[in-house]
Amino acid sequence: MIPFFPDDLFDADRSVLLDLLHQLGTSPAQRFILGEHTARFEAALGEQLGGAEVITCGSGTSALTLLLHAMGVGPGDEVVVPAFGCAPLASTVVNLGARPVFADIDPVAMTMDPDRAEALISPRTKVVLPAHMFSVMADMPRFTELAARHGVRLLEDSAVAQGGVLDGRPAGLWGEAGVYSFVQVKTFGTVGEGGAVVTGDPELGRAVRMLRNHGQDGRTRFQHHRIGYNSRFDELLALFQLHRLPGLPGRLARRAEIAEYYNARFEPLAAQGIQPPPGGTNGRCHYVYCLRARHREQLRAHLTEQGVGTHVYYPSPLPRQPAFATDGSWPQAERACREILALPIYPHLTDAQVEHIAEAVCAFAGTPAGAGTR
Ligand SMILES: *Cc1c(COP(=O)(O)O)cnc(C)c1O
Repeated sequence: MIPFFPDDLFDADRSVLLDLLHQLGTSPAQRFILGEHTARFEAALGEQLGGAEVITCGSGTSALTLLLHAMGVGPGDEVVVPAFGCAPLASTVVNLGARPVFADIDPVAMTMDPDRAEALISPRTKVVLPAHMFSVMADMPRFTELAARHGVRLLEDSAVAQGGVLDGRPAGLWGEAGVYSFVQVKTFGTVGEGGAVVTGDPELGRAVRMLRNHGQDGRTRFQHHRIGYNSRFDELLALFQLHRLPGLPGRLARRAEIAEYYNARFEPLAAQGIQPPPGGTNGRCHYVYCLRARHREQLRAHLTEQGVGTHVYYPSPLPRQPAFATDGSWPQAERACREILALPIYPHLTDAQVEHIAEAVCAFAGTPAGAGTR
């Protein structure tokens, strides 16, 4: 069985992790959060982003919350978010007392459709929040232009696109600020929870830095300039991520190579109702490889039979979730939820496994169930 979520992601780093834990646990400083290693990790990420400010925090979700809070989002405000995506896109907005307004997605990119988003901008709109999805960055040039034209703020959910580059600009630096997530399954995932805010705006950076640690400025303890949060970063994870950082480009390149192979194998299957994601390299970062399949459930069952684990991101549009239930029509998001199927794409898949997965999809397309009409 080739699992969709591998259980050996960190096997090669296990002894390093134990050494780091021992080093930290026996160091005289006895400092386990927001210490020198966190500072070094933030500096290393910032250097890769041409000197942008990086503020690590408790999770990608928390990074969104800290930024929305720092941007002053609160009761009476609206934030335009994609109708197709993960819960934090809406929950972070709701938890600040504001209202998420859901925009339908582009049918090919699966990211928020700029035209739909623009049509939803009202006098109450404070922020537009596009998110990069699976392997494709959102249309950030369009979002930058329309945010400026309407005088609203632009926050980029780049949680899944760390390392992606669109038109020469890294994911995270298109918006006034972006976020990264280090939760296990993400491309720069780790052995726990963590996230980061990235921004070229020093004022926003300062606000987020205070908010992540109860509104303190990092100099005078127990002086609270603002009402903040506990969203601090762990020193052990900083050490471990510093160890893993040099390997990230290689792992992303391997993911891209697998995606390119899948695309080459699946592009001829359009007549059988199987459509690979957009190819190319500009604005691509391969977190999840998502096919669209006319007969998704049958394909999924066939792949399970062939020993290939798959996953469905996401079974229902955000505004159709009980927690965010809203009236409206999001036909492209609905269709994506019916058709989408993710295949394994982690970097330590062997060539033989990648080939087996591709063969299994192609074999399905050649069966009556796969070739059947709608
Ligand atoms: C994973 C993810 C988040 C949240 O990150 P966590 O670290 O899990 O809190 C936010 N937005 C998107 C698009 C994500 O994929």
